[in-house]
Amino acid sequence: MTCIQDLLLKWYEKNKRQLPWRDTCNPYKIWVSEVVLQQTRVNQGLNYYLNFIEKFPNIKVLASAQLDEVLMAWKGLGYYSRARNMHLAAQYIDNECEGRFPSTYADLKKLKGIGPYTAAAVASIAFGQPHAVVDGNVIRAYARLFNVDVPVDSKEGRNEIERIAAEQLYSTDPGKYNQAIMELGATICTPRNPKCNECPLVGSCKAFLAKSVALLPVKGRKVQVRTRFFNFLVCHHSHKEIYLEKRDGNDIWKGLYQFPLIETDGLTAPDRLLRSQEFKKMFQELPAMEGFSEVVQHKLTHQVIKARFIHIIIRRGKGQNHWVPVAEVNLGEMPLPRLIDSYWEVFLQKSVPLNI
Ligand code: SF4
Repeated sequence: MTCIQDLLLKWYEKNKRQLPWRDTCNPYKIWVSEVVLQQTRVNQGLNYYLNFIEKFPNIKVLASAQLDEVLMAWKGLGYYSRARNMHLAAQYIDNECEGRFPSTYADLKKLKGIGPYTAAAVASIAFGQPHAVVDGNVIRAYARLFNVDVPVDSKEGRNEIERIAAEQLYSTDPGKYNQAIMELGATICTPRNPKCNECPLVGSCKAFLAKSVALLPVKGRKVQVRTRFFNFLVCHHSHKEIYLEKRDGNDIWKGLYQFPLIETDGLTAPDRLLRSQEFKKMFQELPAMEGFSEVVQHKLTHQVIKARFIHIIIRRGKGQNHWVPVAEVNLGEMPLPRLIDSYWEVFLQKSVPLNI
């Protein structure tokens, strides 16, 4: 065992956060925790994990659930492709693997939504196989520990970090080692203000010695953010029902429900939208507008959505065939994107003043 491995594992044993997916070798639970925690902080993901395991305690239950139920359990967590992929992967395991969770890195990677990181995490933690995990926390910790000054989002930088991670892995207990280095990145070697004075590896940290901690990891690429303009039509009718449509296609929020949408190239005044061909094509008879909201901004990783909610009144049955009528009071029970869910919650409290 190297000095870094020894210090890191001792520190982890003493300082690890007590979390329900630690101290289990159940691959299903480890997989769920890893998927929930992608792009999500532990504090936020913890309750989702507990609820998910309670609702879908094993592969079989998840595989036989309806997709809407799975999306409901994911509601508010974002990145819904994770939930859709888990559902597909569970069905694959149930149908093609006789319900047995794949146990090798190569077989794990065949599952929908499982990439090198999740395959390495499940293979090492559940099955003790020597595969090093490389996530954002690990990249940051190793970039600093070994003073890697090439951009970590370049091929060269990524290869260098992967080489270091494989070399550093403690192959006698790879699952624990992987969790330890991730925990160090999450709690000590944080993006801003790393706690070097509490770090068990400070004596071996090349960036600390070179006084380059604040400069690392180096990132080369700029994230391109696309702005989109969504005009949601909140179609009320006399039976206290609202129409929803299901999103499909290869786009954000696939499988979730939304108010019927007209996407435009820029901000469009509601009265102009109501005169557009697209709007006229949607309705068999032109509806009356009740009012509209201010523009709401919603940020995703690579997109900014500028949304307006336009409330209109239509007669029952005068919507499109693929629209689903839902009682207003039951809207919160549908799998909705957070943007719509939050808007509706505030609207119900009558705190959204509608413009006319
Ligand atoms: S000494 Fe500081 S920079 Fe180096 S690994 Fe520890 S926390 Fe990170």
